[in-house]
Amino acid sequence: MEEHVIKQMKGRDRVLAALQGEPVDRTPVCNPTSVATVELMDLVDAPFPDANRDPELMARLAATSYTELGFDTIMPVFTIIQESSALGCDIQWEQKDNWPTVRMNNPIWNDVDDIKVPSDFLTHRDTKCVLDAISRLKKEYGDEVAIIGKTMGPWSLGYHTFGVEPFLLTSLDDPGKTHLALDRMKEITVEFGRAQIEAGADALTLPDHATGDLVSGEYYRRFLRDLHIEMVERIPIPLIMHICGRTVDRMGYIAETGFAAFHFDSKNTPMESMEAVDGQISLVGNINNPETLFARGPDEVGHEVCQNLEHGIHMVGPECAVPLQASIENLKAIPDAVKEWHRNHGCGGTACGGTANGGTLNGESKETDRGKTGQ
Ligand SMILES: [Zn+2]
Repeated sequence: MEEHVIKQMKGRDRVLAALQGEPVDRTPVCNPTSVATVELMDLVDAPFPDANRDPELMARLAATSYTELGFDTIMPVFTIIQESSALGCDIQWEQKDNWPTVRMNNPIWNDVDDIKVPSDFLTHRDTKCVLDAISRLKKEYGDEVAIIGKTMGPWSLGYHTFGVEPFLLTSLDDPGKTHLALDRMKEITVEFGRAQIEAGADALTLPDHATGDLVSGEYYRRFLRDLHIEMVERIPIPLIMHICGRTVDRMGYIAETGFAAFHFDSKNTPMESMEAVDGQISLVGNINNPETLFARGPDEVGHEVCQNLEHGIHMVGPECAVPLQASIENLKAIPDAVKEWHRNHGCGGTACGGTANGGTLNGESKETDRGKTGQ
């Protein structure tokens, strides 16, 4: 019996162990993408858009993931546009209550020969902000929790720099050109990723939006699998692949890459996702954002947490960047439910029964969600 008991771990060790598929004292609570909200911005006086451009504000807002919410990770790269801004993309910075975006209808590149990395790529305000924030966070919290950075994959960079439609159309009309473009843009991913390792990141999220609603699993295999294997070889810390939407048709390919983990969306059930990756990589997710974290309450959040734990999901957290209007109460319910489930695990996982008070309704609505997304 005793050999199964694992001493209490620090958040950082817990996350790094789970990323390597090693035993943990309890399931870590992770946010490979942003948990910044308007409520947290107000609490520490670090609002968007400045918290994406000023390293002190970025670090201060990011730290709330640990200090206020009790997660095992801190993730300061709230947006998906930091490096695109440094590449010269036209950015709409928005206000506190809205995400900054790339104006993709105003692309900066039209052809593969346009792909050029500016010489100030890593000293540009919006990439340097990330590097500075990571080193601040590493200094202050690096012993306690895992500091996660983010470097966008070449497929996502293709959307930002060429525009979504032109990029996807080229992949149909001239796949060779798309391969060449990806091959050139991957250097951006590697360069920004390695700089974040130097700044102190323990792991990196690598979003590459070959999403289920835009491209097929076969597309992933053809254009991205080998390239992602190369990313794993060239970026020497655990990488967490992130793709939104329904992705179960490509999870098997993703599992072949050597990524430490896949951050999966609630459009895929924990059970089918565990089957698809077949123990080859860890999974992190998949608490629903628009319904559960945004519009429902802590009980429903707890119920989804339990579903993940009962299917053996390795790390629990929101499925993607949380809505800026999500409540602190709902986000705190994630670590609370994880801890409760582990406390009760020995006596049949009653945390789930407990948090599902009010109960049948939650069960039913989840079934409905599943019914929809399973189609
Ligand atoms: Zn996402």
